[in-house]
Amino acid sequence: MHDCYLLSLQSYSYSMTFRLLFLVLFGFGVCNAFAQTYVPGESYFDGNGYVEYLAGNLPIIITAPHGGLLAPASIPDRDCAGCSVVNDFNTQELARAFAQAVHARTGCWPHVIFNKLHRRKLDANRDIAEAADGNPAAESAWYAFHAFVETAKNQLLPQFGKGLYIDLHGHGHAIQRLELGYLLSKAELALQDATLNTPFYVDQSSIRHLAGNNVQSLSHAELLHGSQSLGELLAQRGYPATPSESDPFPDADEDYFNGGYNTARHSSYQNGALDGLQIECNRNGIRDSMHNVLRFADSLSVTVMDYLGRHFFGSADAFLCGMSSTPPEVSLPDQLLVFPQPYCYQFTVKKSRQAPPGNWTLGVYDFFGNMLGIHDLDDDTELTLNPSPPGHVWLVLWVDGEMMGMRSIFRFCR
Ligand SMILES: [Zn+2]
Repeated sequence: MHDCYLLSLQSYSYSMTFRLLFLVLFGFGVCNAFAQTYVPGESYFDGNGYVEYLAGNLPIIITAPHGGLLAPASIPDRDCAGCSVVNDFNTQELARAFAQAVHARTGCWPHVIFNKLHRRKLDANRDIAEAADGNPAAESAWYAFHAFVETAKNQLLPQFGKGLYIDLHGHGHAIQRLELGYLLSKAELALQDATLNTPFYVDQSSIRHLAGNNVQSLSHAELLHGSQSLGELLAQRGYPATPSESDPFPDADEDYFNGGYNTARHSSYQNGALDGLQIECNRNGIRDSMHNVLRFADSLSVTVMDYLGRHFFGSADAFLCGMSSTPPEVSLPDQLLVFPQPYCYQFTVKKSRQAPPGNWTLGVYDFFGNMLGIHDLDDDTELTLNPSPPGHVWLVLWVDGEMMGMRSIFRFCR
């Protein structure tokens, strides 16, 4: 799989940055050797190829149950009464982009489990009867899906002691905001904070473990819709969310999803130290184009790492996986022309005549991995970039959502 190679190129800048920081601040002790069967960044499949497990080495698990595109004729369409067969558009792509963005920033991988079957064939966010509608092949994919989640849990919990699970979806509701589901209803989220903090409500929450074990000793209500809640951290990055400080609960007449089968099954609501939630993504500005998928995936990756640092581990060094030791050569397909190099005030990028077809998207990052911009490139565009602040930048190229490589552009003024 070529993106393993290319992504390893990409880890270079971050690995150098993080290693310098770690050497100065924390010494050598942060890198964990962790014996495991699964290689982080590699994908593993069930026997039929209906379920994919992208192995990770961070205390993060993401599932994408409603983004599958496979519709084998051998599995009849589900026709159970009242069952939804509508996919969540672009959520498989979003989960993959999230994993790549986390890797780009940290050199580490989250665990990701994809149901690759279309929802007409399998609904991987229901109990088995409704999920598979009695079909044995769909049932075996359902078992594989949850077994891979357990595999991920069994790796990360012994290593980190806790972690975050996200079940990723897309909603078609009118209000364009993220709906974060903690298994609490609209009416429950609207209760007084003092009530939400009682054991009765904490015990119904998918962040039950975190509510009693977080770095700043925040209350359950503060974690749901305080200034440092996940919803508010996302809202501050330009993605409105409920619950959050700025939108603490959905009104009674507004549509809202509060979490489903997977959130209940795999979060600390059941037991244990894996907290979780469902994230239902709106369409506009997030899932409506690959451009927006990549932009949101980048913001979500930063936000989740921030959230883990604030509430779970205290700092990033406590949960990062350790960095690759050999800085590889950095390259980018020569189909992308960049001139001049080095640049002083500005530089120009364009596709060469040999460029492969597809939707080209270019991300521009500063030396520390912060995204400065994201741009679509068509055949005739010459894109002139004037990074602010000026300095050494990294260009990352995606074609049809697949990361193709990266290169650095130096700044030098005579
Ligand atoms: Zn869904």
